[in-house]
Amino acid sequence: MAVPSPDKTYKKYWDEELETMPRPKLREMQLALLKESLEWAYARSPYYKKSFDEAGVKPDDLKHIEDLKKFPYINKHTLRERQQAVPLLGDLTCVPEEEVVYISVSSGSTGVPTASPFTAQDFEDFQDYEARLFWSSGMRPHDRYCHALNFTLFVGGPDVIGAQKLGALCIWAGTIPSERLLAILKQWKATCTWTTPSYAWFLGETAKSQGIDPRKDLYVRKLMVAGEPGGSIPETREKIEELWGADLYDYYGLSDIFGACAGMCEAKNGLHWAEDHIFVEVINPETGEEVPEGERGEMVLTTLKKKARPLIRFRTSDIVSYTTERCSCGRTHLRLHGIHGRLDDMLIIKGVNVFPSDIEAIVRKNPDFTGEYRLIVGEEQHLATLTVEVEHAPGFSGDIEGLGHALREECYSILGIRPRVKVLPPETIPRAVHKAKRVIDTRKGETV
Ligand SMILES: [Zn+2]
Repeated sequence: MAVPSPDKTYKKYWDEELETMPRPKLREMQLALLKESLEWAYARSPYYKKSFDEAGVKPDDLKHIEDLKKFPYINKHTLRERQQAVPLLGDLTCVPEEEVVYISVSSGSTGVPTASPFTAQDFEDFQDYEARLFWSSGMRPHDRYCHALNFTLFVGGPDVIGAQKLGALCIWAGTIPSERLLAILKQWKATCTWTTPSYAWFLGETAKSQGIDPRKDLYVRKLMVAGEPGGSIPETREKIEELWGADLYDYYGLSDIFGACAGMCEAKNGLHWAEDHIFVEVINPETGEEVPEGERGEMVLTTLKKKARPLIRFRTSDIVSYTTERCSCGRTHLRLHGIHGRLDDMLIIKGVNVFPSDIEAIVRKNPDFTGEYRLIVGEEQHLATLTVEVEHAPGFSGDIEGLGHALREECYSILGIRPRVKVLPPETIPRAVHKAKRVIDTRKGETV
């Protein structure tokens, strides 16, 4: 059932001049913004002043973009440590507290919540950034957007204002039970919504189990997803799109910058950044050397306009690859091929670096599996072992052992490792409501 869309032609880009700017001009603009950002940070943040001085660099040393490499890194640990050392907001903050109008709060794995502060202008920029990303995914004023992300402290909550800014009708649903969310999607004929990939899958299956066919009985035609690699794994994306009869757009957010920092345009070929706001570097996490386009490395981000707490060379721990080729949509800003995983998620099996997302792509290519999987990591004779648990599809009546063997060999040909494979009956592996727990590391005392 198609949602009638008004007979109106909208502009193609949210900000055509910025989004289609030739790259040499974009680089010039970034250089000017980088200079301003370094000067701002050096003059106002005791932390940046000290760390630049210790590294023997001054904002004036930035003559070319490449000179940014001379400036020291920071990471999540820096933010947490400086916040604890200098309460409330830490000494990376560049404005007096009365100029801060909003903080998002994220609790990392250590459980110490860290704040990300915004000035009024930062918050305006944040909303304009989100509107630009949503517009690039094809959201328009006639859309009805159901925001199904957490509103409590989480920086993804205010993303909804970006959709309002572009004129969509917004429903602030938040995280509510699936039955209720389905009822809201249905009653208000929402055309767009945002969840994690695992949850989009779970929600679609829950709908079907209640006799609601998401393709026919719901109106959702655009699904935004973030938080897990699945949205950029073609096999996962196609399965969710098929289930919903909708287009799926992968997004990437970082709580220390914006709710969404990069998102897919309608071409769905990578996630666009807004490089007039954020400068992206991709480095070899061990050597710090820049990696060439198309190769995997750790993403390092520098904010270009944030005033409350600029981030200079923030190591994200996210492993990505990118391209600067002009997209078929006409936008010139850098695109990520996807987030392959977190540095912390990388498994080293027999000397080979393996991300859970690599296994996911292999499992989901084969229609004889349901697509659900878990990775059990153990240790034998001081070597890491990997067991891949998968489920065979409900109608599968062939040779289970052969199915497991085929998956093992597929892993060998693509990744260079032969994991153990356990083929289980359908519906055996626990389903995720939000973020799926895909890896059980028994070496860390985690239990199956
Ligand atoms: Zn594009």
